[in-house]
Amino acid sequence: MASAGSKSWVTMLSLLVAAQLQASLAAGGWDYGKNGPNRWAELFPKFCAGDKQSPIDLSTQTALQNSLIRKYVFHQSSIAAGVKFTLKNDGHKIELNWSPELSITMGQTAADQMYTAAQLHWHWGSSDQQGSEHTLDKKSYAAEGHLVFYNSKDYANISMAASRPNGLAVLGVFYEVSANDNPLFKDLEKALANDTLINMGGAAEVAARTDFNMFSTFLPSNQDEFFRYDGSLTTPVCYESVLWTVYRQAVPISARQLQMLRRLHYSDNSSMVNNFRPPLPLNPGNRPGTPRTLYRTFSAGAAGLAPSALSTVGLILAALLAGRLFVAVEL
Ligand SMILES: [Zn+2]
Repeated sequence: MASAGSKSWVTMLSLLVAAQLQASLAAGGWDYGKNGPNRWAELFPKFCAGDKQSPIDLSTQTALQNSLIRKYVFHQSSIAAGVKFTLKNDGHKIELNWSPELSITMGQTAADQMYTAAQLHWHWGSSDQQGSEHTLDKKSYAAEGHLVFYNSKDYANISMAASRPNGLAVLGVFYEVSANDNPLFKDLEKALANDTLINMGGAAEVAARTDFNMFSTFLPSNQDEFFRYDGSLTTPVCYESVLWTVYRQAVPISARQLQMLRRLHYSDNSSMVNNFRPPLPLNPGNRPGTPRTLYRTFSAGAAGLAPSALSTVGLILAALLAGRLFVAVEL
C-alpha cells in the first residue's frame, strides 16, 4: 500500500514530466541542438526524410537556365495609419506578422494574384560566415529571410495550404554583412530592441510607415536573377509543398543589426543562433520518381557582373586582342 508520502512523490514526478513534455511540445519537439536538423529525418520521417526537401545548394552549374520562368508580379494594398507589424519569438526564430488590412500578394500576372503573404521570418548564424539555409555555389550567407505566401486561390488560409501540393510559395533572400544597415531591419529596430522579444512567446509591435513597401524593402534591387525549384518547409514537419524562389543578389545587413538577432533566446534560454537547416541533395541517390530540376533565370557566365561591367570587360578584351593582332602584324 502506498503511503501518502510516496503518493505525493509520484504526483510531483508526473507534474515534472508533464512540465518537461509541455516545454518540448511548445517548441514542437525539435530544435537546432540535441533534436536538431541531423535528427529530423528520424524524428519526423513522413516528410523530413523525403526526397524533395529544402534547403539545397543553389549550384549555378547544375541549374538550367529557363527563359520561360518569369518573375512574379507583386501587389501591396496601401498602408493606412494604424497598420502594425508584430515581431514574435516562437522559440525557433523571429517572425513578422502584420495587421489583416494590409494585403501583400503576388502572381504570374497583375490579374492573377494567386498567392497571399502570411508571414516573414529569418534564419541566422553565430558568425558572419554561416546562417543561411540555402547556399549559393556552396557559399553560406550570414542570414536568410523567408517571405511565406500561401495559395489563396485554392486554400482558405496558410494552415490549410501548408501541407498541400502547390500550397506555398516562398521568396528567399540572402543577407551579407555590410557597413550599411538593412532598410527592413531599420524599420523593425524599435520592435527588435524590445526586451519582451528576447524569450520564447515574446512579441513587440511597431507602427508601419505609410510609404512602406514590403517588396522594395525586403527584396534585392536585382529581382530579375533568381533560382526556382520545388521543395519543402525547412522546419519539421517539412511538408513538400513549397515553390521556392531564391534571389541571386544578397542584401546588406550591418553587424549591429545582426547582433540584435543574436541576442534573442531559444526556448531553453540559450542564444538563438544557427537556426538553419543545412542543404540537402537536389536529388538524393537511389530514390524513385522524377528527378527535381533547379532552374535559374540568368546565364551562367559572368557571375555577378552588371551589364556595364560586362561591356568594360569586353572593351578591355577587345583592346588586348587588337594589341596582339597589331604585334602579330608587326612581327
Ligand atoms: Zn524559413
